[in-house]
Amino acid sequence: MAVELKEMVCITCPLGCRLELEIENGDIKAVYHHSCKRGIEYARQEYYDPRRMVTATASIEHGVMKRIPVRTSEPIPIKHINALLNAIYRLQLEAPLQIGTPVIRNFAGTGIDVITTRNLETIEEGC
Ligand code: SF4
Repeated sequence: MAVELKEMVCITCPLGCRLELEIENGDIKAVYHHSCKRGIEYARQEYYDPRRMVTATASIEHGVMKRIPVRTSEPIPIKHINALLNAIYRLQLEAPLQIGTPVIRNFAGTGIDVITTRNLETIEEGC
């Protein structure tokens, strides 16, 4: 049986516990040095299915700005991030747009959308 130790920092709260995971044949057998049970949940999520919120900007035509900030509706699996950023950078949006508007829906079948994070008026409206 192959046993290894893996370290990670729990980022669930500002305490930032330095977790140690005991991995046996690819599965977590124990989590050490957590100060609360949320550390165990974090370790399992981060080990088996790491996810991140993604923020970026997308190109927009006829708006008071050339780009509009966007973010994922929830954390997305890390393996999808490069493809997602490429999809965001290919967008050609059109003003006006309201905050919270989905500009990509159900990316790669994940059920996760990309939404705008501000209102953006047209040049005419903004004058
Ligand atoms: S294990 Fe608990 S106390 Fe430690 S950083 Fe995570 S959430 Fe905070």
